[in-house]
Amino acid sequence: MQTFDFDLFVIGGGSGGVRAARMAAQRGVRVALAEVSAMGGTCVNVGCIPKKLYSYAAHYADSFEESHGFGWVGEAPRLDWEALKANRAREISRLNGVYNHLLKSSGVQIIEDWATLTGKHTVEVAGKSYSAKNILIATGGTPTVPEVPGREHAITSNEIFDLSPFPRRLLVVGGGYIACEFASIFNGLGAQVTQLYRGEQILRGFDADVRAFIAGEMAKTGVTLHLNTDVAAIERSDDGLNVRLRDGSVILADTVLYATGREPLTGGLGLDAAGVAVNDAGAIQVNAHYQTSVSSIYAVGDVTARLQLTPVALGEAMVVVDHLFGPQAGKKPRRMSYDFIPTAVFTHPNIGTVGYTEDEACDKFGQISVFRSDFRALRHTLSGSTERTLIKLLVDDASDRVVGLHMVGPDAGEVVQGFAVAMKAGATKAIFDSTIGIHPTLAEEFVTMREPVRR
Ligand code: FAD
Ligand code: NDP
Repeated sequence: MQTFDFDLFVIGGGSGGVRAARMAAQRGVRVALAEVSAMGGTCVNVGCIPKKLYSYAAHYADSFEESHGFGWVGEAPRLDWEALKANRAREISRLNGVYNHLLKSSGVQIIEDWATLTGKHTVEVAGKSYSAKNILIATGGTPTVPEVPGREHAITSNEIFDLSPFPRRLLVVGGGYIACEFASIFNGLGAQVTQLYRGEQILRGFDADVRAFIAGEMAKTGVTLHLNTDVAAIERSDDGLNVRLRDGSVILADTVLYATGREPLTGGLGLDAAGVAVNDAGAIQVNAHYQTSVSSIYAVGDVTARLQLTPVALGEAMVVVDHLFGPQAGKKPRRMSYDFIPTAVFTHPNIGTVGYTEDEACDKFGQISVFRSDFRALRHTLSGSTERTLIKLLVDDASDRVVGLHMVGPDAGEVVQGFAVAMKAGATKAIFDSTIGIHPTLAEEFVTMREPVRR
């Protein structure tokens, strides 16, 4: 029988890789994990965590301003950008250490360098060859910047966290999650933010109402949004970066952030040597068990370019471990369902959403009822803010099941997480109606909307 150095060799120490390595090692099998950079991957180092910390920082600006209506007097403090960066960096280093410790204490052998596949069961790292019964590719993705003249002057989300000095004038290109979140965050932190999007409305793929509503709310907070436009060229001048648009106009900026999507990180990974197939977009193709075209090699997370979210990478990793090494004692093997995955966009205000958009629900279910409310939150009766909150429910008339739930408002991610459980459980509108609200909250609106605005 062929012997291997490891039962599982994981390439990539991000959300998916760390979870898979740790869970597998806890089953008592021999696991190695190769990571070329800081442990924790995109989410911990240049994604969810530092982004959310900066989002918290940005929200203080509103709180200081709104406090006057509640009787607080005095000047608002000013942002010390260097202090924020340093505090963030310290917290991320702490998390890197926690991840390293968790892996080591689970018995995972960490190999700190770039890993390349050399065969169906072999990996090379820093000139040394390792064999493994199974290999898991969890190498994530990397930002893409289109071929625009002057693109070398632009940055991506990887560089945004450590900018020096603070960008007084920030131009954000893109209309997706990253563009909208950083437009909101830097606007809150005090930058003058312009966002350019090539299409009709930001956040393609989200509910049309939500898209229009958040665009309006972001504009109220001070983000200047240009739709149906794109960059023709970027040039450096004495006064910063001259960004020439396709319509001939020019915008001056200190920093240009391109947030125009991410691609699977597979270059230099040796996929050809091992015979691992990718699709036209360069994403590794997997079957229902996350097995690639090579039966001993698996792939999870952003490198498969499906739903690029940390909890999805974590969920997929646990399914692979159960599939390869069996479930935890007393548990059934996990299965991953892509239905009703909730998500939040940490714009100001936040978006929280789960289930279908109105258009999708119409197409899928035919007859639906739309419940919708937009209102000024109690807090803003005194705060002076003109922010409004949007709450929306979509109900399949045939089954009475709530099939779409959307919110634009403070802490929408926190609110929607709980409702996602109810929706996974198949909650009907009748169950929503029979649920007593918590008063006075924004979220009580979800259980008090009685009349549909349209059918
Ligand atoms: P990653 O976390 O990217 O990990 C891949 C790891 O593999 C990296 O550490 C990389 O260095 C390593 N690697 C790559 N190639 C090799 C190699 N050949 N050898 C050794 N190591 C290698 N998701 C959310 O759910 N919520 C959010 O709020 C959120 N915010 C985000 C904000 C930003 C700015 C970005 C960019 C992403 C955000 N995401 C968010 C998405 C989330 O970060 C990703 O979906 C998630 O990190 C994917 O995990 P992964 O394991 O697939 O890959
Ligand atoms: P997205 O795919 O969300 O958005 C990319 C944006 O760039 C779209 O508006 C797209 O326009 C635009 N775009 C693409 N190509 C070009 C081009 N050549 N020129 C001009 N504009 C272009 O990617 P992001 O980079 O924002 O984020 C990547 C992923 O990371 C997200 O999809 C999400 O899964 C994850 N993420 C999750 C977060 C969260 O959970 N809160 C936060 C941040 C990221 P169009 O719509 O017209 O194609």
